Amino acid sequence: MEGTRQLFATVERFLRSLPTRRRYLDWLRGRRYLLAKLPTKQETPLVVAHSVRDSAVAAEIRLALEHDWLEAPPDCRKVYEDILAATPGVVVVQLRRDNICGCLGHRHMGVSERLFSEHFNNGGFDFRGQQVGEVDIAHQRIAAWEPWPLANMAFDSRFVAGSRLDDFRRRQFRLRLLSVVLHETNHLARPSEPESEVHARSTNFYREALASYFDSSFDTLSFTLDRSHSRLG
Ligand SMILES: [Zn+2]
Repeated sequence: MEGTRQLFATVERFLRSLPTRRRYLDWLRGRRYLLAKLPTKQETPLVVAHSVRDSAVAAEIRLALEHDWLEAPPDCRKVYEDILAATPGVVVVQLRRDNICGCLGHRHMGVSERLFSEHFNNGGFDFRGQQVGEVDIAHQRIAAWEPWPLANMAFDSRFVAGSRLDDFRRRQFRLRLLSVVLHETNHLARPSEPESEVHARSTNFYREALASYFDSSFDTLSFTLDRSHSRLG
């Protein structure tokens, strides 16, 4: 996968080598870019374009992509294999707080993030001939979204009362961010796939990844808890 690794390095170099004036203008606007990658065969580079106020959320997205993805059950990662293979070589994720339309995210028809659209219009930078795709996600909407109410997941009250609650909430938010990024990336890769199928795939990913984390947390808590807890269905 030499080619894909080179692509990641190319995007990294592009972000690092921006002219001083450009950097200064971005800095004044509070615009920041965080580079991350999904550790898949393609190692698709994702650039999280965000406001400096949302830097902490951008860092959570990177953790979700680079760490939580690997901890998700192999079966739910496998269903994204072909999709990720068909995704544009570089994905720009515009991180927003909210979307007036109420959506958690969108796939964009073109690239609107100025840093990237300028370069493509000038023809100055082509990322090794790879396409660039763009999506947006709205993190406050995502934080308030729960496709699988905890009651339905046989959420154990002992866990809620435990010291791991903060860890759990944080992981839960990251898995939501990850599933929305996957959902919108799915739209980029397969623009004509019906919403119902794209939705079923991403919510299933969220549910399975959360259930798996929940289970492994119980394994590590077992020295303080009895083992009679009900497992997730
Ligand atoms: Zn959708």
